[in-house]
Amino acid sequence: MVAAVAVKDFVAVHGHPEEKHRHGNQQGDHWLKACSLQGKGRGFVATQRVAAGTRVHTAEPLAAVVSQEWVPETCAWCFHFTYPKRMRFKADITLPTTADPANNSTKRKKKQNALMTTTIKDVMFCSESCRKQFHFHGHSEDESNLLLRSYHALEQEYNSRQKQHREYPEECNDKDDGHDIQLFDSEQVDITDDDQLSHWINRIWTSITRYSCFVQSQQRWIPDNAERTMMRLVACCLARRQSEAEYLFSERQHQAAVPKFDDLLNVQCNELTYVRRILDGINSDGIKSSTDRATERKQRELPDELLHIINMYSFFVSATSSLFDCPHAVFRAIYFREMSNSFGLWEMSQQQQKEKYSKNSSDVAFSDDVDDASDDIGNVTDDLELLGWGIYPSAVYFNHSCKANVKKIRDGRNMVFIAKHDIEQGEEACISYGCIEDSVQERRKRLLEHYHFICACTRCEEESTVTNPQ
Ligand SMILES: [Zn+2]
Ligand SMILES: [Zn+2]
Repeated sequence: MVAAVAVKDFVAVHGHPEEKHRHGNQQGDHWLKACSLQGKGRGFVATQRVAAGTRVHTAEPLAAVVSQEWVPETCAWCFHFTYPKRMRFKADITLPTTADPANNSTKRKKKQNALMTTTIKDVMFCSESCRKQFHFHGHSEDESNLLLRSYHALEQEYNSRQKQHREYPEECNDKDDGHDIQLFDSEQVDITDDDQLSHWINRIWTSITRYSCFVQSQQRWIPDNAERTMMRLVACCLARRQSEAEYLFSERQHQAAVPKFDDLLNVQCNELTYVRRILDGINSDGIKSSTDRATERKQRELPDELLHIINMYSFFVSATSSLFDCPHAVFRAIYFREMSNSFGLWEMSQQQQKEKYSKNSSDVAFSDDVDDASDDIGNVTDDLELLGWGIYPSAVYFNHSCKANVKKIRDGRNMVFIAKHDIEQGEEACISYGCIEDSVQERRKRLLEHYHFICACTRCEEESTVTNPQ
């Protein structure tokens, strides 16, 4: 395999950059081990007594992207943020000059003359070193090139739809947008049943994405910034998936070095929960029985939320079909994991930066107030910006507690987990998902909405018996 040889040469000369990077950050990972915990699924448990301030885990992203609105001012490698100054270094991409870029991906190395290198402005870096690290991250240069090409393709699709919209705005008001597709044709679906619901979801996606009238009308759909960011995150996962298929089988020694696409599948998929909630939302008139609801729903249109995600998929595929093989099941598998499992990558406060750069120890105790700002849901008290999103498969073992003993801090593109208090051997290590300042009712409501569980941590149990004595 040509691609693998090229990388092997690079590794022989320079060492595997990703590996070096990881070894530098791996200290501390022996403090915790993933176990199955009674009634809670899996979780991280301390293997020995851990002192407060210890760095207990470092998670590397499977995928990390800069939010669309901050692309010019944020380093795509280390997430250094310099607003209003723009980043100075641009990414290079190698594009085939032939009309059909799809059929020569494996011959790229041989056909040097059929390639052109160009810079793109969609991915920026703070330094030459960050630019290099980005280019050599993942499994190979081919992976990052594939990734950059997909970003570029998404950007081009976006620009061309915008142009079309400017030139023919009236066409965008057509009503034929898939809303008239009947939800539950002749059959009834019990949405409380996982199998029936997933079968239905599959069928809806397949029939809609094949319905040519719909597909045509959807070619005018234009994503917003959040959706563009999300699609790049999907592309990131797919580039890893594809490069594993091409590369890993011949280069097994590097398998441990980077998060693998399959690690993503360990992350909980929220599709069923999400769709169930949307379908329930169609009927907010309090009809209880699922049979009644299904009958009622027969006449209904496809819910906007679902149509929206299908639009995004259709956009994604029109942009990247020459680069990725992405059936809707794969897109959904990624999207519905990203949806509530990504960590926000926040701008660092000055305080945080000072601490990060003044002490070079692995046991740096970061101040508590900046911790909450690095969480992925709102309530940022400083006016820090949300610079991007990342998926950290190894961090899924941190369950939530409203009285967490571990906090997470962004370190470049990695997430570092630090003990807030002493943790006893055998004790579970938990983080807080988002802000935990609210009352127990509000916390539980938010956690249920975003993370789909009812919090039963010690703090919630205590506070709920105080507020609702039985
Ligand atoms: Zn950087
Ligand atoms: Zn709680």
